[in-house]
Amino acid sequence: MTSFPAQARRVRDSTLSPQRRLYALRECALHCAPYGFRATWHHLVVAARIPRSLSDDLDALVRAADELQRTRDVVLQRAQEYAALRRREKATGRRLPRTSPPWNSWGWSRIAYCPDPEHHPTGPLATVVEAVLDRHDAGISVDRYCLACGIERRRQGLACPSCGVHPDGPAARWRASPAEEGWQRVWRRELDDRPTPLVP
Ligand SMILES: [Zn+2]
Repeated sequence: MTSFPAQARRVRDSTLSPQRRLYALRECALHCAPYGFRATWHHLVVAARIPRSLSDDLDALVRAADELQRTRDVVLQRAQEYAALRRREKATGRRLPRTSPPWNSWGWSRIAYCPDPEHHPTGPLATVVEAVLDRHDAGISVDRYCLACGIERRRQGLACPSCGVHPDGPAARWRASPAEEGWQRVWRRELDDRPTPLVP
């Protein structure tokens, strides 16, 4: 897997085929997936209006890459600030981090993991990520509040009924019901005309 900047350049490269640019966008979304890959991908398809036939609007791929880029910039800046803080704390003999940051190596999917690919926050990705990291830094308890939308949790261990973010992060995936058929539809960007169910 190559780096995010290299893949983002490919998304914006109009000399490449639309399919190649789409796959480069997928690589970008694997690097930066605050909702988990599938929900992040669904968000991009909807927010950037990526059409089923890519050649109808190739700029949509660039819009999606731009949104991921803005989000990545937010996380990288916070990660650098956190690393600098830890260095200062270690220098003063404080060895234990107060709270570990909510990002992880899986595309930062622990920041605001959404087990249902079609139920995730609707605002700009960078804004949502910033809100989560602000609430985290403010010491707001993830057990009592949804860090993405701020509402109080009434029940533990469930995805937020308002925005879809699960407090357990990607670990919640193993308990979520499989939605493979829905995901295939998201991947094909068939979001506006769902097939009519067959009547037996
Ligand atoms: Zn929420």
